[in-house]
Amino acid sequence: QESKITTISEKNESNVRSYCRNFPDIFQRAKGSIIYSESGREYIDFLAGAGALNYGHNNDFIKQRVMSYLDADGVAHGLDMYTSAKESFIAKFSELVLKPKKLDYKIQFCGPTGTNAVEAALKLARKVTKRSGIFSFMGAYHGMTLGSLSVTGNTEVKAGAIGTSNNVTFMPYPYGFMEKFDTIEFIDSVLNDSNSGIEKPAAIIFETVQAEGGIVVAPIDWMQRLRNLCNQHNILLICDDIQVGCGRTGPFFSFERADIFPDMVILSKSISGYGFPMSLLLIQPELDIWEPGEHTGTFRGNQLAFVGGTAALEYRESTNVEQDVKIKDFFLKNFLNKEIASISENIKVRGLGMIWGIDVANFGGSSLAKQITSRCFELGLIVERVGRDDTVIKILPPLTIEIPILQKGCSIIKQAFDEIVS
Ligand code: PMP
Repeated sequence: QESKITTISEKNESNVRSYCRNFPDIFQRAKGSIIYSESGREYIDFLAGAGALNYGHNNDFIKQRVMSYLDADGVAHGLDMYTSAKESFIAKFSELVLKPKKLDYKIQFCGPTGTNAVEAALKLARKVTKRSGIFSFMGAYHGMTLGSLSVTGNTEVKAGAIGTSNNVTFMPYPYGFMEKFDTIEFIDSVLNDSNSGIEKPAAIIFETVQAEGGIVVAPIDWMQRLRNLCNQHNILLICDDIQVGCGRTGPFFSFERADIFPDMVILSKSISGYGFPMSLLLIQPELDIWEPGEHTGTFRGNQLAFVGGTAALEYRESTNVEQDVKIKDFFLKNFLNKEIASISENIKVRGLGMIWGIDVANFGGSSLAKQITSRCFELGLIVERVGRDDTVIKILPPLTIEIPILQKGCSIIKQAFDEIVS
């Protein structure tokens, strides 16, 4: 049963508010993987700002850099002018992320949130190819503004935005019965058939793991064939790495496991390292045909986000976060298979790195998932539901979570299952 609280926000905020309904408490302080409420309750955070807090809350190393910057009256807002903070970020990003992987991308800083960079990518793809259509995938999530919503699969969230997906075609993602459907072959045959009724798109936008779509992991060969298909048909490939980039699956970019290079890559969420808003678009140099000022905005490249982001990249390197994710991946996979999937063959667990899901679609469905996450909250764990009909319990802790806290969070999930299903 949800604990009921009365807040000023509840009375005054729009009915559109969401997370606060599932986590009814007033949060005040947070450190590492723990959030503290005003009343002093402690919660383990398996949501991590929906992926914006890969390095935990108030990470000391990053915080120190941000505090020193503020202390020195560093520029707080810079439009898109050159600033020292931006120079440092780009230099560090090139040195630690792009160069070691021999990647060559131009960086476009977009508006503050992920959806802003999705908009830029869709717009640039049209400009480059002079085509307007986009192929996306069933179950995709790319954001809530009109362009990003148009390539989002969930029809419920689009219900009020009539006609948004007019030039978007949704192709099957390898999920459920679709796993047996050869999407790539299908797209190829559509593009080769002058009577298909579907025009060649400017771009195909994809996630390597559908996160909001229910933690669905794309197979490596599927991604490689997708890349080849785009090459063959001269279609741009856009990877939305907003949620599973920045090391969530282990390597910095999630597509590295398939050894492919998209034409454009979208990053946001954890790129600033501290939960500050920032989004960016990586563009293959020859595609960077923007005219100056053709895609502007007041808040492009938040200065504190640059400072946090630079520190985060250094922190990631010096503390070997990638190796740490491998260990925790092993722990989570083991826990979920041994303790949760063993409850019933109808419970499916999926994931990789530090993003995992428990799918109870065929075992109690969304109402059970809701009961589990509510009970977890009562027991001191913040964990969210995603996927078709919200039947997947999503495990998304900070990458830096201490092993004992990770274990404690998992034992809370186990306890909730034991209490509710047995
Ligand atoms: N793409 C993906 C894959 C996401 O997970 C999200 C956010 N959940 C977005 C786009 C949209 O980002 P934002 O909410 O910051 O606009």
